[in-house]
Amino acid sequence: MPHNHPERDSYPRPKNPLFSFIVPAYREEKNISNFLISLKDSLDQLSIRYEIIAVDDGSPDNTGKLMLETAQKIPMKCVLFSRNFGKEQALTAGLMHASGDAAILMDADFQHPFETIEKFISYWHQGYDMIYGVRMDRGHDGYARRSFTYVFYKLLNWIAKIPIEPNAGDFRLLDRKAIDALNTLPERTRFMKGLYAWVGFKSIGIPFDVTERQAGQSSYNLSKLSNLAAIGLTSFSTLPLRISMLVGVLTSFFAFSYGFWIVMRTLLFGADLPGWSTLVAAVLFLGGLQLIAMGILGEYISHIFTEVKNRPLYIVSEIYDSTLPKQQNTYA
Ligand code: UDP
Ligand code: MG
Repeated sequence: MPHNHPERDSYPRPKNPLFSFIVPAYREEKNISNFLISLKDSLDQLSIRYEIIAVDDGSPDNTGKLMLETAQKIPMKCVLFSRNFGKEQALTAGLMHASGDAAILMDADFQHPFETIEKFISYWHQGYDMIYGVRMDRGHDGYARRSFTYVFYKLLNWIAKIPIEPNAGDFRLLDRKAIDALNTLPERTRFMKGLYAWVGFKSIGIPFDVTERQAGQSSYNLSKLSNLAAIGLTSFSTLPLRISMLVGVLTSFFAFSYGFWIVMRTLLFGADLPGWSTLVAAVLFLGGLQLIAMGILGEYISHIFTEVKNRPLYIVSEIYDSTLPKQQNTYA
């Protein structure tokens, strides 16, 4: 869904722009070296000025080690986390370390094709500030995951009132303006797809074919996805709270009317004992509603709790920049 601002159609770009390529990696020991070297090779063919920033998201395997070894062969920056903080955090770290005029986010598993980069860059020169890849075929994803994604985005668009393209992911180019905007957002519960949409800017979706993951397996199972979904829904809207209040008001209204009717009936026709099953049904129903409402409330309180602790978004254990002279690498 492009958001057009015609008055800014010919935004001037710097003469010889620098592009920052950000690669988050978790358990990618089979891909990382291959990927980084292939990325370098295809970028060299584009004859652009670029930097590569790889973020090891606390992988328990050899991803970090191989990343550092690859940095001896090609000029690049490595950021290693102290533990797994999640892809959203890894991308955030990449954006914080990016010094380019634009950043391009790419998965380390070859699922984001190199051919699309050139298209991203040409749209950027045309004045778009956020260019995102739209997956043409989610065939690799399996039926359960596709239905889940579909329902989630329908719900999110309805609830959060932020148009989020369901088939867009983290594969995208961000102009410096968008990077700076994202870097000012302090929230710890980061749902990147929502944040990209929230910061706005002139955006456009570019279709691309998702390729098969080259090696290893996806880190996202249904439980990780539902966790992300809960964060997405509750960090972009307070509508669930409103709905639970509305449901409360409606049930109270019915309860009062029913109570009034029972009192009148008893006064007019005398008391009789049946109604035991109504009682049980009512108690269970209300109990259920209350627990749901408390659950929703709890979800928001947990956000407040995480935010109020004000912890850093991630902890870095090591930074190595092979574009710098050795003595300037303080961590490695
Ligand atoms: N990733 C990450 N931290 C995580 C999980 C994944 O940095 O906790 C990286 C992963 O290495 C890959 C990208 O995020 O480069 C996408 O992950 P994956 O391929 O597992 O997800 P999918 O493509 O199935 O959405
Ligand atoms: Mg993948």
